[in-house]
Amino acid sequence: MSGNESRIQAIYDITNREPKPSKAPKKLEEMWASDVFTLSKMQERLPKSVFKSVKKTVELGEKLDPSVADAVAAAMKDWATSKGALYYAHVFYPLTNSTAEKHDGFISVQGDGSVISEFAGKVLLQGEPDGSSFPNGGIRSTFEARGYTAWDVTSPAYVMETDNGLTLCIPTVFISWSGEALDKKTPLLRSIAAMNKAATKVLKLLGHTEVAPVNSSCGAEQEYFLVDLHFANSRPDLLLTGRTLFGKPSAKGQQFDDHYFGAIPERVQVFMQDVEEKMYKLGIPAKTRHNEVAPGQFELAPFFEAANVAADHQQLTMTILRQTAKKHGFLCLLHEKPFAGINGSGKHVNWSVGNATQGNLLDPGDTPHSNAQFLVFCGAVIRGVHKYGPLLRAVVATASNDHRLGANEAPPAIMSVYLGTQLEDVFEQIKNGAAKSSKAKSVMNIGVDTLPLFPKDPGDRNRTSPFAFTGNRFEFRAVGSGQSVSGPLVAMNTILADSLNWMAEQLEGALSSGVELNAAIQTVLKEVIDQHGAVVFNGNGYSAEWHTMAVEERGLANLPTTADALPVLKAPYIEELFDKIGVLSPVELESRFDVYAEQYLLSIEVEAKLMVSMAKTIIYPAAVAYLSELSSTIAGLKEIGIDFEKEGAEKVAMLTKFMMDSVSKLSGSISHHDFSTPEEHMQYVAKTVRPLMDKVREYADGLEAEVADDLWPLPTYQEMLFIK
Ligand code: ADP
Ligand code: MG
Repeated sequence: MSGNESRIQAIYDITNREPKPSKAPKKLEEMWASDVFTLSKMQERLPKSVFKSVKKTVELGEKLDPSVADAVAAAMKDWATSKGALYYAHVFYPLTNSTAEKHDGFISVQGDGSVISEFAGKVLLQGEPDGSSFPNGGIRSTFEARGYTAWDVTSPAYVMETDNGLTLCIPTVFISWSGEALDKKTPLLRSIAAMNKAATKVLKLLGHTEVAPVNSSCGAEQEYFLVDLHFANSRPDLLLTGRTLFGKPSAKGQQFDDHYFGAIPERVQVFMQDVEEKMYKLGIPAKTRHNEVAPGQFELAPFFEAANVAADHQQLTMTILRQTAKKHGFLCLLHEKPFAGINGSGKHVNWSVGNATQGNLLDPGDTPHSNAQFLVFCGAVIRGVHKYGPLLRAVVATASNDHRLGANEAPPAIMSVYLGTQLEDVFEQIKNGAAKSSKAKSVMNIGVDTLPLFPKDPGDRNRTSPFAFTGNRFEFRAVGSGQSVSGPLVAMNTILADSLNWMAEQLEGALSSGVELNAAIQTVLKEVIDQHGAVVFNGNGYSAEWHTMAVEERGLANLPTTADALPVLKAPYIEELFDKIGVLSPVELESRFDVYAEQYLLSIEVEAKLMVSMAKTIIYPAAVAYLSELSSTIAGLKEIGIDFEKEGAEKVAMLTKFMMDSVSKLSGSISHHDFSTPEEHMQYVAKTVRPLMDKVREYADGLEAEVADDLWPLPTYQEMLFIK
């Protein structure tokens, strides 16, 4: 066995690891939502009138009647304490991608020194965490640092189990004292409401008299890597930044495609089943699991749910993955590109809109009538992605996702829509409709009985598109694996609301001037495809030709880095969009730019600093130790008259020198702080700091290829990716 002592020890420990004691499998019905305060549990425990009122809020989006809060709080507390909970927490989602929670005990001390548990309606409704250290982009100055959490009735409360206790968790929004959104949930709820309003208007114009509230749905596929903790713990880069800042590629990577959908290693499967059990208990419908493309990479996907609940459940899923991995001796990496040269991890956000009366509005259905309705909603999405493509790019912009987008394994940074051949053809026909309809009206009139039928075809796939229609939904593939899905969902709901409002206006105008409905629909769809068809692209999104064609011929934006993409949030047309639709005020939007820009700068600064320190204190000493071994060998041999080759030593010496030169340049570059705007600072980081980091890495990885394996201090790619 080779490797330095700590690496050998790690391999030994992994090989001789005690397997987790096996557990008796549980029945799905036994586990399902057992840790959730579901509507049916409420029904059992609440007076009829109270239950009815809460149900209306949950299902129909009606305003919550605060007078029911006491009764709900008491029932919730009884349920949670009967399971053993002593604490409750308002859970919220700050502008980082993490989940935040503040815990309080149910304990209340009485006059005689005895204690009871207590949970009043007002504490269920509202909390006041001292959230002053959450990033808020200048919305709150410290003297008015109060932030409030407020109960989100539409996302169910649940208990979170740890080894020796339980906490009642209540999903909440997080807002400032003056009502500004400080979190990711508030805009999501607003965007759903705005989309509902716009969609309802359109559905009524299409002739529906009964229209239930329209909601958006989300099914997020989560990719992740697992690395044994024995290795991860000796990689400061994995621990601090979630990715390897150094590491020579392993001779075998993913080139054989033998990992994708291969048999799941047993240790990993045991981990997955543990994750799924936790998810089921929390009412999260885990549905798919498989090996992903890269060795050590896996995927988990739930059955889709209403967007707001899906977003909360997605946050919980990330927490469960990370926590459960530790118990199984793994570090779970949700970074978008933990290993250079190997596929990164995304989070495909499947999204649609629908309601109880009309069903999935992005399902083409099998009747011409529903086709027309489908085309209106699909056309609205196309218009939105074309008008606001740069916004979709901005909401997936993070320092870590920059490594993945456009890296020939993930969609490019250019936003386009994939429709599939059938659907593209239908829109093509609509585009040519005016000409055709005069010749052969029956061909293209969107009349109820003449619209071409097109069966949904979920097998029709194009993996290179960032925004693909997949049969009855769109799949936004550019989202990063570690990201909250809320930002992308907010953007999609908002641009759809804008397009539907526009469509409603067009249809209303036409109808009021006597145009017949089908003709009006035809005109509006034709305008959509004439004005916005440039965003539809069915070809290979990875190709160089597309990059040129998209920008030069079609006028689409290519925003390769976060530094290019984030300033879109400050563009007047984006500010107007969010303000007009009522999702984010200009102040709230600007605060998001500030926070995300700061996060970008901070994450690269942390990586660069760590890189400098690892190069100096871990890699340099190894290189020098090897050089000293080599030089004494060469000198010793010379003494006994053997002239030994010096090239190896020269190469190591040169790589070491180059690495240290780059390290000083990098070190100098991060001390540069004299920028007049965050935009300027981000550009500097993207164009100067990042390339210097690449240089340091190039020399360090070169050294890994030269230095004796028993002196190399960091676990290698081969070990981290292949030993489980
Ligand atoms: P693939 O990897 O082929 O894209 P998966 O089965 O892994 O497919 O993931 C598809 C995801 O899309 C699942 O989470 C599924 O529940 C979700 N999905 C299906 N229909 C809808 C819908 N109408 N709205 C939102 N998500 C949906
Ligand atoms: Mg998918």
